[in-house]
This record gives sequence, structure tokens and C-alpha cells, in this order.
Amino acid sequence: MIQITMPLNFLGSVYREIRQALVDMGEMFGLLGQPAEIVDRPGAPDLKVTGGEVVLDDVHFAYDPSRPILKGVSVRIPAGHTLALVGSSGSGKSTIGRLLFRFYDVTAGAVRIDGQDLREVTQDSLHGAIGVVPQDTVLFNDTVFYNIAYGRPDASRAEVEGAARAARIHDFIMSLPEGYDTKVGERGLKLSGGEKQRVGIARTLLKNPPILLLDEATSALDTQTERDIQDSLREMGEGRTVIMIAHRLSTVADADEIVVLEQGEVVERGRHDELLARDGRYAAMWARQSAEVSQPPA
Ligand code: ATP
Repeated sequence: MIQITMPLNFLGSVYREIRQALVDMGEMFGLLGQPAEIVDRPGAPDLKVTGGEVVLDDVHFAYDPSRPILKGVSVRIPAGHTLALVGSSGSGKSTIGRLLFRFYDVTAGAVRIDGQDLREVTQDSLHGAIGVVPQDTVLFNDTVFYNIAYGRPDASRAEVEGAARAARIHDFIMSLPEGYDTKVGERGLKLSGGEKQRVGIARTLLKNPPILLLDEATSALDTQTERDIQDSLREMGEGRTVIMIAHRLSTVADADEIVVLEQGEVVERGRHDELLARDGRYAAMWARQSAEVSQPPA
């Protein structure tokens, strides 16, 4: 896995950006091994994001040829819309996230952003266009400032503070012994799950990507913190194309479209109300989760 403890100051900003994206993705998807070698096509142009439309066109994918994982998934997310991917564990939600990032190439079909096939553009430009908010943000052993500015290392103090305010973590940072210069991470101040996630949100806000990939937190945050974080994520999604990988359903009700995956195939799609009215898989998942939530703890 990517080493995250080595000093990073000497690294160039482009490298840092890619690295951040990879660290976030690695964290997000629990990638323990190196993904397959993906190289840019010689002379590949940069991705040009004009609006942020994301299309999966009859996507087939297998990690191992003997075991197909995605079996013809087609999804179109218009620029500025929010798509929620739901489905049982192992149905292929995170795999779609990995393909969007081109950690792997599709076996058949295509993934396109604003009409450009991901295989035809540079990976640097692709990674620069997508912001990832993982459920567990990786903190470096450095200052709070550094950890937020990691989203854009040339950011000024005012810009970092602006992002921290928008992520509603500025006041907390100001209450720390050395404010933005307080050391955090394994060897510094340990932040709570919610605080770490806010640092991650601030980092992504600073990067200002047109496309967001959100991994809904499954980690235990208290209800109020979780609600606050959801509000921040919702605000961050305004005006951007958002793909939300939802492990629970409580946060998907507002999505423009919900896609239900089962064993690598889309089995239902629609808005929350439509899917409830259809009384199919989504409605059953919803009923099951609602029952779990209302169960008193044993
Ligand atoms: P969850 O909700 O549990 O996170 P998911 O819907 O995100 O599940 P994926 O992580 O996309 O599911 O996994 C889909 C299938 O692909 C699973 O059967 C999984 O075992 C398999 N898989 C995932 N990563 C790899 C890998 N690196 N190599 C081989 N198979 C993999």
C-alpha cells in the first residue's frame, strides 16, 4: 500500500495531487495491492471538463477473467446531478468508483466524462477532476494547515481558512493549542472520526473538483455529527456532479437518481419515491434498514 509517513514536502505539487488522490482512493476502497499498471496512451490529451457529465456505457468488468463483476452497467449522470449507487455488499458499487478513477480499464464498454473516454485522456487530468471524500480521511503527520492544503498545495492561508469554514471545522481548529499549526496524525493530536472527515471535506473543497465521489461513512459517528457531515457533503455537492456510494440508505433519498446494483447488474433505478412505490428491491432494502434503525439496542 502507499506509504504515507514519508516526508512529502519535497514532492512537486502535481505528484502530491496524484498521490493524494491515490491515498484517498486507496483508503476509500481498501486497495491493499497495487492496481494493474495503467499507462497513458502516448500523446493523450488532458481531460477537458465542460460540465461534468459522467456516462457508463454498457460497462463490463472483471478483476479476474473467470469471474465477471460488472455485467453491462449503463448509467448517465448529467452535469450537476447526484447519483446514488446502492446494493448489497459485493454488488459492485466500489468497483464502479475504481473504474471512474481508471484504477482499472473496463473489459468492454466505456466510461466517459463529457464525452471523453477515460482511456484517451491523461490520468493526471482525470484525477485532478475528481474529488474523493473517503469515509476515513488519511491524515499526514503534519500540521492541520498542511493537511487541508494538501488538496491544493499552493493555496494561501485565507483560502485554507475559507475551506475550513465551509467544512465547519475552522472554529474547532482555532480552539487547538497552536491553531492551524497544530500537529495532527498518528504522531500528533488524534482527531475524532467526524473531525477527520471535516478535514477531508475542507481538503476537497480547496481542490474544487467538478466531480465528486463520496463514500458514505459506515464508521460510527454520533447521529448529530453524522447529520452535520451529511449537510456539509450536500452543500459541497451543489453545482457538481456527485456519485455517492451508499452502504446505507438514509442519505440517498435526495439523490436525482438511485441505481440499485445486484451482482453487477442494474436491477432498479429511479428516485426514492418512485422506487418505494415500485415495491421492489429498493423498497425491501428500505423497509429492512428502517426496521433495524427502530430496533432498540439489545
Ligand atoms: P460493499 O458494499 O461491501 O463495499 P461493493 O458493492 O462496493 O461492496 P465491490 O467492492 O465493488 O462491492 O466488489 C464487487 C466484487 O468484486 C466482490 O465480489 C469482490 O469480492 C470483488 N473484488 C473487489 N475487489 C477485488 C479485487 N481487487 N480483486 C478481485 N476481486 C475483487
